[in-house]
Amino acid sequence: MSYTKLELQPLFDKIDELKPAFIERLSKAVAIPSVSGDESLRPKVVDMAHFLVKELTSLGFEDIQVKELGIQPPPVENPKLELPPVVLARLGNDKSKKTVLVYGHYDVQPALKEDGWATDPFTLVHDSVKDILFGRGSTDDKGPVMGWLNVVEAHNELKWELPVNLVCCFEGMEESGSVGLDKLIAQEAEAYFKGVDTVCISDNYWLGTTKPVLTYGLRGCNYYQVSIKGPGADLHSGIFGGIIAEPMTDLIKVLSQLVDGQGRILIPGIAEMIAPLTDKENALYDDIDFSVEELNAASGSKTSLYSEKQDILKHRWRYPSLSVHGIEGAFSGGGAKTVIPSKVIGKFSIRTVPDIESNKLDELVIDFVNKKFAELNSPNVIKAELIHDGAYWVSNPFNDAFTAAAKATEDVWGVKPDFTREGGSIPITVTFEQSLGTDVLLLPMGRGDDGAHSINEKLDVSNYINGCKTLGGYLHYYGRG
Ligand SMILES: [Zn+2]
Repeated sequence: MSYTKLELQPLFDKIDELKPAFIERLSKAVAIPSVSGDESLRPKVVDMAHFLVKELTSLGFEDIQVKELGIQPPPVENPKLELPPVVLARLGNDKSKKTVLVYGHYDVQPALKEDGWATDPFTLVHDSVKDILFGRGSTDDKGPVMGWLNVVEAHNELKWELPVNLVCCFEGMEESGSVGLDKLIAQEAEAYFKGVDTVCISDNYWLGTTKPVLTYGLRGCNYYQVSIKGPGADLHSGIFGGIIAEPMTDLIKVLSQLVDGQGRILIPGIAEMIAPLTDKENALYDDIDFSVEELNAASGSKTSLYSEKQDILKHRWRYPSLSVHGIEGAFSGGGAKTVIPSKVIGKFSIRTVPDIESNKLDELVIDFVNKKFAELNSPNVIKAELIHDGAYWVSNPFNDAFTAAAKATEDVWGVKPDFTREGGSIPITVTFEQSLGTDVLLLPMGRGDDGAHSINEKLDVSNYINGCKTLGGYLHYYGRG
């Protein structure tokens, strides 16, 4: 223990005491099937927003606002479909305190019993033998959202003042692309969110199942497509094979030159943009609880390109990767169809990392693809383009917010957290950082095996309850630090 411990035991005891009420709160939330991706369930998503308003009101939150985001843009079946609102609330407006914005989402992924769930997905089931809560949204993200409310309830019961001003931003469209949220955050940056000192997002997971983590980085993603067009219609290889230039042959030649079998990107100029690995960052990888066996278990194979955990983690988190995803227009069924596709579109993406400049990357990629195609001397027509991009994010794991969360984690779990990054994206992280000009901390509650988007999603009771303590402890260490 290398820090001055705050006297938080009464808070932790109170959270333990309130465990049944906290499970009850989560069970009411899980019972509302707030699936944002299912238009027919949109009224339930709205019900969930109102459930939150009710809870926030009873806990004493002030200035609760239900921000309507308007009509959902196409593609939609119902052209008049309203987006679910963003719920804003605050507790405390004391100029002498720091202000923490907490973000969470109250919508969930779709779930049907027939998908293979052992229990009804929208009934929170407490397996008392394993001490695990099963239900859609238990870990993603209703557990963490209820966690923030639980922290406030524990303070109210203790008649403790919160150590910070708390601002909540809960959205209902996260599982469907957070439509409308960027605009709202930009609008509120100098209004509702004025004075926010830091942002905490609890919407990710531990790397494994035993050791708590704090997450300080996410890779971005630039997604490209290359279309190659030749004949006016699909042709028969018995008639045209050998006498015309085939788009698929050209496309495969181009795609095959983007990356090698060892995962090395072959496009010149990208490696030079990657931020150098500092000794301090390098040292973070040594302590992380991870092994090649865990990767094998997750991939269901023994196909790892690396055998050392440090190499695996660095290549998942801090180096770029290029994946070829598919070919639109290609024959992909069973059997032996002898078609020559007239137009094929190859799809690939690059997971981006600091300090890759997105525009520069697009230029390097598109120029490279065009150059490789030109070398084929093909009469076909190529078009390479970016179809979607999302920025990477990396924070300073030694800043005040991370330090506060690390102390709280150590108080609660008795171990120092691992500092991790993730290979995927949480685009809202970058939006908050850029719009509010503040740091963002990712403070997960659940474990790596919670099955956030799959069947039998769960949250261990210990993660739920200790997660509440960690969220509360973080507010104290941050607010009083
Ligand atoms: Zn989530």
